[in-house]
This record gives sequence, C-alpha cells and structure tokens, in this order.
Amino acid sequence: MNEHYQHRARKRFGQNFLHDAGVIDRILRAIHAKPGEHLLEIGPGQGALTEGLLNSGAHLDVVELDKDLVPVLQHKFRDFDNFTLHQGDALKFDFNQLQAPPRSLKVVGNLPYNISTPLIFHLLAHAHLIRDMHFMLQKEVVERMAAGPGGGDWGRLSIMVQYHCRVEHLFNVGPGAFNPAPKVDSAIVRLVPHETPPHPAKDPALLERVVREAFNQRRKTLRNTLKGLLDGAAIEAAGVDGSLRPEQLDLAAFVRLADQLAAQPAHS
Ligand code: SAM
Repeated sequence: MNEHYQHRARKRFGQNFLHDAGVIDRILRAIHAKPGEHLLEIGPGQGALTEGLLNSGAHLDVVELDKDLVPVLQHKFRDFDNFTLHQGDALKFDFNQLQAPPRSLKVVGNLPYNISTPLIFHLLAHAHLIRDMHFMLQKEVVERMAAGPGGGDWGRLSIMVQYHCRVEHLFNVGPGAFNPAPKVDSAIVRLVPHETPPHPAKDPALLERVVREAFNQRRKTLRNTLKGLLDGAAIEAAGVDGSLRPEQLDLAAFVRLADQLAAQPAHS
C-alpha cells in the first residue's frame, strides 16, 4: 500500500471524515471500550475512530462499503491482531456471523446520513445481541429519536427506537469537525437496548404497522388513519381516544393498539 494514497471523499457513500481530535476523543470516552469487549464499527472510513477503538484492546470488527478504503485500512492497522475488516454493505451485513453472545456487542459509527435510519432499523432487529450503540447522526435525527410525545419530532423513529432502547442525546458536533464539512449539524447519540422492554408488545411487527399507518397522515385523527386496521370500537377497547392525532399518543398507548390488533381474528 502506498503510504501517500490520498483518498477523495465520495458523496455517494456519505463520506464526511472526522478530523477534530477533541471531538474524536470525546466520542471515544463516551464509548468507553475495554479489553475483552467486542466492538463493531460501521463505516470506519479512513480510521478516525478506529485507531482509538483498537487501542482500547477490545476486539473490533469493521464493515466498510468503499472498496478503495480496504487497502488503506488494512495497511494502517496491520499491526493490530484485534482488527477484522469486512468489505460490504452494513445494511446487508449478517450480524449473526459475529457469533456474539446476547447483549455483548458495542456498535459504533459516524454513519453516512443517507443510510442512518434504515441501518438503525436493521440493528434494532438484532437488539438482543447489542449492549450499546454510539452513533454520529444528523442532529435533527437525534432529536427525533430522543423526542417525547406531543410535538412534531415524535414519530415512527422515536417510537420504534424507544420501544427497543434507552436514548441519550450526548452532545452536538458542528460541521467544522468533518472534512468535507456537511451542511447540517450533527450529534452523538447513545442507544442502550432495554433488558426487558418497558412496554412489551405481543407482536412488535404489528406495533411497527400501527405506528407506520398512524403517522402516514399525522394531521388526521387516529380513527381516520387507522381505519384499515382497527375500527372505532377497537381503538376505544385499547383505551385510546380515537379523536386524538398520532403525535398525542405515548408508546404505551401505541402498544395497546398493536395488542388490540393482535387480538383481532384477521389482522393480516
Ligand atoms: N468513521 C469515519 C470517520 O468518522 O471519519 C468515516 C465516516 S463517513 C461519515 C461514513 C463511512 O461509511 C464512509 O467511510 C463510507 O464509505 C461508509 N459507508 C457508506 N455506506 C455504507 C454502507 N452501506 N455500509 C458500510 N459502510 C458504508
């Protein structure tokens, strides 16, 4: 590998590389990796966070989509025997191949903004394997994840993330910490999967369906938006006022609606 390889950031891969040492250090301290732990980094890029993660002594698997970065990373971290690189799309990555015991994986990533929401949904499907996750995301996305009911930020992302995880908006990061600088502010979020969900749904897939349907038209009443799934009597039987709008309902109420749907003979 040529020591002087200059990688040009690629927009289509959402490449904004971190270069601010202070920010990098703050993220590493928030992750707080220790020897014997198992880390998974999504999109290591040129290795801004990777080096500190490897220095913790934990085992680190990384998944990077950009083939041109593979030799760069392999060369840079050739002396670390706790480093495993997977070239490919994190959205298609099979987390079971890591053979991680339940609640063991620490997932990390300065995520490409174009795939952050689908990637987080992909990870939530494996929440039982995960101990915690630390992500750099668009600040607006972190605000939606951490939102409570009653406002415009409360929606499908807040509800499904909070169903599975405790959410902590840790700190914000300005565009100047990256090269090239993105147009928006970013933030670091910590997601910790619940050991036992505080509001378990009989079928989480039905919760997703109810939430998706309800927020498809967030200005309409629940009676209207849920028409195809639950009638007025079923909404009332779940203890929910059908004249409310979806953003007025908390997670527990959405779970009651999903359980009501699960109890119906033909919900499919
Ligand atoms: N972690 C590095 C840093 O902080 O400087 C890079 C962050 S950059 C915002 C996002 C990285 O994710 C890039 O290296 C990009 O190539 C990679 N990436 C983009 N889409 C990906 C995907 N679907 N799966 C895995 N990596 C991806």
